[in-house]
Amino acid sequence: MTEEEFINLTKNNLGLIVTQEQLDLLNTYCEYLIDYNKKVNLTAIKDKKDIYLKHFYDSLTIVKVLDLNKVKRLLDIGTGAGFPGVVLKIFFPNLDVTLLDSNNKKITFLSKLALKLGIKVNLVNERAEVYAKKHLEEFDVVSSRAVAELPILIELAIPYLKIGGIFIALKSDVTAELAISQNIIKNIKCQVERIYNFELPIINHQRTILVIRKVRKTPHRYPRTYSEILKSNK
Ligand code: SAM
Repeated sequence: MTEEEFINLTKNNLGLIVTQEQLDLLNTYCEYLIDYNKKVNLTAIKDKKDIYLKHFYDSLTIVKVLDLNKVKRLLDIGTGAGFPGVVLKIFFPNLDVTLLDSNNKKITFLSKLALKLGIKVNLVNERAEVYAKKHLEEFDVVSSRAVAELPILIELAIPYLKIGGIFIALKSDVTAELAISQNIIKNIKCQVERIYNFELPIINHQRTILVIRKVRKTPHRYPRTYSEILKSNK
């Protein structure tokens, strides 16, 4: 996706008018990511056009299910090189964004990137199931892309949410994963609110955005340790 295609498609498909300032920030982000990625492995997507489509545009598709202007605190679990969290911060500067990843290399990159872009984000170098212990019910929205299978993700994400808050999982397909998530959905007191299917433009790859709402307080036993989570998902 060229920069021009990005501008047109975010406007026509996502209803976002990209400002020159946002374009400049994305350009700096893209160049820094490509450069940094030569020394430290952050992403398999290395080409500028692919970054604009598969990282920048894809991150922004969240706007199809949620008005981020109305959200205060967002946590991005397993943010990696900042997707979708950093892109959302660029487009919604009032959003209080926390980027969490257990990988120290990714968090180091993000702290340098944030300085370069002049954006203020909270960085957490911790495993999601550990950090949750002291940050229960603090966030309005939790997002996550390409981190784990859905039953695991739900257990990692829901404890962070305030009651009424939503978890947004960016996935390619959720049919099979939803089928094996029914127990955790019931036990952790949340409900599937929306399954939004679409195709990424240009390459026509299937994408699904799953919206899950927390309806009641999370039972005390969650989140469990990662080994316990894995054991019950074997
Ligand atoms: N969300 C980014 C994206 O879509 O480009 C990165 C995806 S990358 C495939 C998965 C990331 O999740 C890795 O950076 C990994 O360190 C992180 N991760 C996996 N399990 C995690 C956990 N339990 N807690 C925190 N981070 C985790």
